[in-house]
Amino acid sequence: MASTATDTEALERFMTGLVRRNPGEPEFHQAVREVAESVLPVVEAHAEYRDACILERLTEPDRIITFRVTWQDDAGNVRANRAWRVQFSNAIGPYKGGLRFHPTVTQSVLKFLGFEQIFKNSLTGLPMGGAKGGSNFNPRGKSTGEVMRFCQAMMRELHRHIGEDTDVPAGDIGVGAREIGFLFGQYMRLANRFTGVLTGKGLSFGGSLVRTEATGYGAVYFLQNMLAVRGEEVASKTAVVSGSGNVALYAIEKLVELGATVVTASDSGGFIHDPHGIDAERLAWLKDLKEARRGRVREYAEHFGCAYHEGARPWGIPCQLALPCATQNELDGGDARTLLDNGLVAVAEGANMPCTLDAIRVLLERRILFGPAKAANAGGVAVSGLEQSQNALRISWSREEVDRHLQTIMRDIHEKCRAEGATDDGFIHYVRGANIAGFRKVADALLAYGVV
Ligand code: NDP
Repeated sequence: MASTATDTEALERFMTGLVRRNPGEPEFHQAVREVAESVLPVVEAHAEYRDACILERLTEPDRIITFRVTWQDDAGNVRANRAWRVQFSNAIGPYKGGLRFHPTVTQSVLKFLGFEQIFKNSLTGLPMGGAKGGSNFNPRGKSTGEVMRFCQAMMRELHRHIGEDTDVPAGDIGVGAREIGFLFGQYMRLANRFTGVLTGKGLSFGGSLVRTEATGYGAVYFLQNMLAVRGEEVASKTAVVSGSGNVALYAIEKLVELGATVVTASDSGGFIHDPHGIDAERLAWLKDLKEARRGRVREYAEHFGCAYHEGARPWGIPCQLALPCATQNELDGGDARTLLDNGLVAVAEGANMPCTLDAIRVLLERRILFGPAKAANAGGVAVSGLEQSQNALRISWSREEVDRHLQTIMRDIHEKCRAEGATDDGFIHYVRGANIAGFRKVADALLAYGVV
């Protein structure tokens, strides 16, 4: 949110250049605009940042590797997909960020995700740079053998570009424990090294306890911290969650554990509305459906006899807490207004960039608690960082120890946002706070390196 006419002019000038240099990349433009709006006033106020062109340098990836992945399906047909690794910035540590397998993956989507990752990783306080990768491969409907052959084919190229001190990928949409296992197995064969080159690994080969739960749990811990500022808590509130993947399932688990009633879950087919609440027993059934049987949420509605809304999003269901945990731009300005009319108190973004710029504006105008993705969902990458530490030390921490670290990291991120985002009237502008706090650390590192 630019505060003066000069700030607005500087932002529009900066964005015009960025859009010209990066045509046809709307998701990347959107992510940069959100950050630039917060940090340009800081850059303008610090001649050293301005003179070193820090923001211009941070919006240009260090490198983008694009490659073809050729594999064979079960019928013996030869298939070709496109894959990328966007190594955005290693200013404060080795590149770190997930891999996404989804037909909507483009260079623009991966650039937005890699750019966001720089600031998110900085906020965790751990030494991790920003990156993202993936492919337009669609895992839906593929056999396990096909997914394995695709992962192996992808790693045949990717292994040249990653390493525990260079770039450490993890999972994201369409890349879970199964895919990380296939990718790691192939890396090991090709490199002849057993090393922490990927995170989100299985517990039997170097994974960390709580990594699976970390993004969802972390988003709820962040939400707890935001609510505490207003003397409120999660217990007894109604929550609407979108998605039914890794982030959504464990956000639901923690919300239920803390006494909230979670009434929705969704996938790309539609959403279920369960007024009884997805309790521990129903959640166990949903996890089995999504994680083991790879089914659709529609089947939950059939099994438990509740409503299924085909092709719709859940934001019309009244709630105090909203956690978008599926994908980018899944909650727009109209959805935000509906949520506010229905008594919304707080939003924590579990997914990356799930709220449009318009939705964020509407929510912030009404001064509700809004936890942006780079702060609220940083728990996943934070525990990935802890997985790297455990791998380097060749030890494994207990569930309690990792969870304690996660809670501390989420509380620290909240404090950083509060320190940079508090306004004169006591409101905490978490978007501005997260962007500025994340930016400063990376900017100071770049300044120290001189012109590189
Ligand atoms: P999963 O693949 O496990 O789950 C994604 C969920 O979102 C599925 O329910 C999927 O439905 C749904 N979904 C995906 N695309 C769309 C779409 N275009 N429209 C509607 N629903 C959609 O992914 P994750 O849970 O890991 O990731 C979810 C979000 O969280 C992403 O934005 C990701 O970048 C972010 N994130 C993930 C982290 C992690 O640790 N995994 C860390 C930080 C952020 P369907 O099955 O029908 O495709």
